[in-house]
Amino acid sequence: MKIRADLHTHSVASGHAYSTIDELTKAARRRGLKMLAVTDHAPGMPDGPHEYYFYNTRVWPEYLNGVRLLKGAEVDIIAPNGGLDLPTALLASLDVVIASAHAAVSPENLSIEKNTAMYLKVIQNPHVDILGHIENPLLKLNYPVVIKAAQARGKLVEINNASFTVARHGSYSNCLEIMRILREENMPCVINSDAHIAGLVGEVGKALQIALEQGIKKENILNLDAGRTAKHLKINTQKTADKLHRMVPL
Ligand SMILES: [Zn+2]
Ligand SMILES: [Zn+2]
Repeated sequence: MKIRADLHTHSVASGHAYSTIDELTKAARRRGLKMLAVTDHAPGMPDGPHEYYFYNTRVWPEYLNGVRLLKGAEVDIIAPNGGLDLPTALLASLDVVIASAHAAVSPENLSIEKNTAMYLKVIQNPHVDILGHIENPLLKLNYPVVIKAAQARGKLVEINNASFTVARHGSYSNCLEIMRILREENMPCVINSDAHIAGLVGEVGKALQIALEQGIKKENILNLDAGRTAKHLKINTQKTADKLHRMVPL
């Protein structure tokens, strides 16, 4: 069993990542993926790209190396009011928006109540599609409240393979709680690689194995099916290209 759409990957534009969109899509094709979202870090990260980088994704082809290429961003949650570090109109034009807390830029040492309130604001943002790696042990969240709110607004909770391998050590027990809630709520989720190098695109083996062991149903792992993923994200390329074209400042 493998995913057909990886919705969380990074190109060289992210600074601390190492592959181009050409290399990422080639790797995706080798892995049997139909769809790849390149979701580079946003300008708030110390080594993130300027916002112009995201505007100019209008030059990306719809398909690259035989893989449907989605224009994305992994935005940072930068304020307790749920503020994000790309302009709203730009977020509205992208195919996939992941909102994540990162230690370098997100509010630190907030109480579990304040973090939960912050996430409830993010969930109200109509342009956010996915909550990225909420299992981070540095982020204390009331998971039942956050996950049920995400469900009510049609947001996807991500299970991030990198949290089991190269990042955010200590995520495992939080992942188990998140998966328990997803299972009990019979909620869809996505399992992503968070690849920062082409060789890891589509690599979600550990997270997928744990999700299945924890009783998450295959049909609730949305990105095992590229068509269902596209439908959920309301992928409409022409609309995206037109919007980016109209708003581009460069
Ligand atoms: Zn990164
Ligand atoms: Zn991240």
